[in-house]
Amino acid sequence: MPDVSRSAVAFVDLTRIEEHVTERILVQLGDILRDGSFIDGLPVREFESAFARYVGVDHCVALSSGTAALRLGLTSAGIGPGDEVIVPAHTFIATFEAVAQAGATPVPVEISEADYCMDAPALAAAVGPRTRAVIPVHLYGQMADMCRIAPLAHRLGLWLFEDAAQCHGAAREGLRAGACGRAAAFSFYPSKNLGAMGDAGAFVTGDEDLASRVRALRQHGETARYNHHTVGSTERMDTIQAVCLLEKLPLLDGWNDSRRASARRYSERLAGVGDIRLPPVAEGSEPVWHLYVIRTAHATELQGFLRSRGVATGRHYPTPPHLSPAFTHLGHPPGSFPVAEALAREGLSLPMFPQITPEEIDTVASAVAEFFDG
Ligand SMILES: *Cc1c(COP(=O)(O)O)cnc(C)c1O
Repeated sequence: MPDVSRSAVAFVDLTRIEEHVTERILVQLGDILRDGSFIDGLPVREFESAFARYVGVDHCVALSSGTAALRLGLTSAGIGPGDEVIVPAHTFIATFEAVAQAGATPVPVEISEADYCMDAPALAAAVGPRTRAVIPVHLYGQMADMCRIAPLAHRLGLWLFEDAAQCHGAAREGLRAGACGRAAAFSFYPSKNLGAMGDAGAFVTGDEDLASRVRALRQHGETARYNHHTVGSTERMDTIQAVCLLEKLPLLDGWNDSRRASARRYSERLAGVGDIRLPPVAEGSEPVWHLYVIRTAHATELQGFLRSRGVATGRHYPTPPHLSPAFTHLGHPPGSFPVAEALAREGLSLPMFPQITPEEIDTVASAVAEFFDG
């Protein structure tokens, strides 16, 4: 192992979890090993109830990943080949991927500088005869402008499906992430605001019919044992993931508060440094800071400099999905979405996780200042 300097700051340190959480999870893992309830154990149903209550919806279906939640959600709504689904041009590629996996075509639209999420007027302009659904993505922990997007989707007759993979617990103008569309998808990938010990996700909805269709799709299209009415797959959440998530859920709001405090400290320290643009927070928005993303014309150089100072950073995401080889066939050349493409070029994500210390934030901020001031 190389000698790690004392000032090294991890981008996300998943090992700094509170000790009592680890201990309680370990005890329950022992129980599962002894009783063999690996699939469909009681904790899965307990987590579904607890998470539905947390989000503020009636139904939660626990799944194997956030991408599965997006894909099965689309399929459950009857969206497939020949249909178009509007997505923001700046997102993690899974949003595009799920639409393509469902057999439909992702149609990207420009994002807003106000929140880096889907721009409502751009959504309205992209609707065509084949448009069936819209997936706003609540990016970096901040909700999209649902007060404008939801009525618009309703008026245009579009199925509104939130990608809430980065937004557990966020709110905006009285609306809560995951509770303002017809349905929403959450991811519990380990580094998300609520993370499992591996891959996991959830589909949430107020619509009982949709929930039962996703329940069937996650288990081979089964409605009762060995009754298969549709082609499904294996997309259940493991019992051990539900155990982990049940233990962590009561801590989520507190962890989100720590992220808010860290974001405030970063913004105080970094205001006016170099050409940095701080992350935008829209009026009435209460982000949960999944990521803290600054913008600078020197993102690549700054990332290299911080690495040399022992500070790990990330790029989210350096290539917009429409310019990734997997999706160039959609036919959106460079320059199609200037705001999204500029953010991809200029965005740099600084270390952010609930247990990061004020001293670590200051170390990062000082290193950033040193880069610009020399
Ligand atoms: C993480 C993420 C997903 C996918 O979730 P997985 O659990 O990794 O499949 C989808 N959309 C966004 C915006 C994400 O950040």
